[in-house]
Amino acid sequence: MTSDPRNHPGKEYTNGEVTVMWKPALCDHSALCIMGLPKVFDPGQRPWIDIHAASTDDIIRVVDTCQELLYYF
Ligand code: SF4
Repeated sequence: MTSDPRNHPGKEYTNGEVTVMWKPALCDHSALCIMGLPKVFDPGQRPWIDIHAASTDDIIRVVDTCQELLYYF
């Protein structure tokens, strides 16, 4: 029996205003986030999401383009 990847744990990154959750099991590596905000989403860095590298509004704009990145306030 395989478990639903939507239930897999995610990693959270917060700047105190917004928290972005990334679930590795759901990421399709389409790179929409990397193209949209390369200062924040950089797979060459660890952690690969630098939540402090852009404004909250810009982060939300890019996260909205991805069906697998979630955010909450
Ligand atoms: S846009 Fe979403 S699904 Fe695509 S690489 Fe980024 S986090 Fe993964």
